Amino acid sequence: MTRHVVVTGANRGIGRALAEAFVANGDTVSTIYRGGDLPDGVTGAIADVTDTDAVNAAFDELEAKHGRVRVLVANAGITRDGLLMRMSDDDFQSVLDVNLTGTFRCVRRAVNSMMRERFGRIVLIGSVVGLMGNPGQVNYSASKSALVGMARSITREVGSRGITANVIAPGFITTDMTDELPEDTKKQYEATIPAKRFGATEDVAAAAVYLASDAAGYVSGAVLPVDGGLGMGH
Ligand code: NDP
Repeated sequence: MTRHVVVTGANRGIGRALAEAFVANGDTVSTIYRGGDLPDGVTGAIADVTDTDAVNAAFDELEAKHGRVRVLVANAGITRDGLLMRMSDDDFQSVLDVNLTGTFRCVRRAVNSMMRERFGRIVLIGSVVGLMGNPGQVNYSASKSALVGMARSITREVGSRGITANVIAPGFITTDMTDELPEDTKKQYEATIPAKRFGATEDVAAAAVYLASDAAGYVSGAVLPVDGGLGMGH
């Protein structure tokens, strides 16, 4: 029996590469997403992760087709960058609502199924910025560092039920999110990365496939950097 893997936001960027990698791994892959086209072999259910009822309904719809979710990769995320003293409540709250509370909504629903299966792999897409901080990203880094506490609490709460929860902390990965950065900022970032380049979405996907594998059954509450060495020691 193939595993049912749910990736949030598989229509583009890292989420798309995640979904493709799990399809290539032989899993049954579905996504909760807001729209757009999906990779071949991926089933979609429309939901915004800020809407609890929509998230729960999307899981119900996908599980009716493919059975209980065994792997969740919480990938959907946004940035609303700005310096602290000019950051509005809305800029702060909206980032927390997608990146942190949105992840919570998905995890809560998925764990319900994983408890019944007595198996689960939860992979949260954090960020090196959640560990190192970054000027202009107080909202984003707070949302991402909170995922570490979440994964570790999940590990303590349901770790005895065959469920693991880990965080991947990508560095700078080439996607729409980083394409928004000015060219000179990108150059400055590249200079500080030991690998001297941005990563590819496939680099993050490979780490997720590992953390979701049977081989990673004794890895939980960990933060796995995929950052070309940028965050070493954090
Ligand atoms: P993109 O901006 O390319 O894609 C973001 C994805 O999240 C899209 O599928 C988007 O859907 C989805 N999404 C955003 N808001 C919501 C929402 N409210 N409900 C449902 N889906 C939503 O970003 P990346 O692929 O670069 O980033 C993916 C994840 O990786 C994020 O969590 C990001 O923080 C993290 N990350 C990225 C890094 C990078 O360098 N790129 C570095 C470290 C972490 P839609 O198309 O509808 O907007």
